[in-house]
Amino acid sequence: MMSDSGYIFDIKKFAIHDGPGIRTTIFLKGCSMDCWWCHNPESRNLKPEPILKTNNIDEQEIIGREISVEEVLHEIDKDMIFYEESGGGVTISGGEALMQHDFLYSILKKCKEKNIHTALDTSGYAPEEIIRKITGVVDLFLFDLKLIDEETHEKHTGVSNRLILNNLKFLDDQEENIIIRIPIIPGFTDTESNLLQISEFIRNLNNVQSVNLLPYNKMGVEKYKRLKKLYKLTEVSVPSEERMNELKIYFKNKGIKVSIGG
Ligand code: SF4
Repeated sequence: MMSDSGYIFDIKKFAIHDGPGIRTTIFLKGCSMDCWWCHNPESRNLKPEPILKTNNIDEQEIIGREISVEEVLHEIDKDMIFYEESGGGVTISGGEALMQHDFLYSILKKCKEKNIHTALDTSGYAPEEIIRKITGVVDLFLFDLKLIDEETHEKHTGVSNRLILNNLKFLDDQEENIIIRIPIIPGFTDTESNLLQISEFIRNLNNVQSVNLLPYNKMGVEKYKRLKKLYKLTEVSVPSEERMNELKIYFKNKGIKVSIGG
């Protein structure tokens, strides 16, 4: 199924951390997960929603808008020269873009018709038939892997990870290009047992190009206040450079190609 329009909350030009080369990243609205550390709380609601302009002023603006596939492609077309020169392309992010899979498919299909490299930044939380549907139009999966223990995953993200892990295995079996992104949330995703389980899981896959370790950041805290939502991770500090390097060495010693950042 195709769709003529959908909901986005941002378009980032000249992105250099969302896949190879210079990219245009389109942020789709909607996510049914509830990660305690989510730094894009404005992405979670599928529809546009009010947000305070600043934390101190009681004046609202609307975050998100409906946009046609044609308009998105118009924005993409403007940056073609940069993709060609840098080996870049288009990345679709969120929220969880698979929530609007018809809209997502329509954008990516048009990109492929123009021979543009496509990447999908995803939590992998979607029915397998949706994953199957989009494999033909995605060149690179930027796949988030957070927690392997199902109960812990459910506690800190609101959903079981069964679908996610099965989808990752499915993509690997299909020999898709995959980069795994692990958010490093101190005390949550960097525990000894989770690191061991994640590294073992990755070592059993065959098509993972590399692992990106994404240090926790507090960029979203302000936005929670502006959305009048509760931020659950007030006590957690950002990981030090030393800790991130330690983790990099940990994965490297397991024979996994790894880097810090996107
Ligand atoms: S999957 Fe991503 S967008 Fe959704 S709640 Fe988690 S961090 Fe936020």
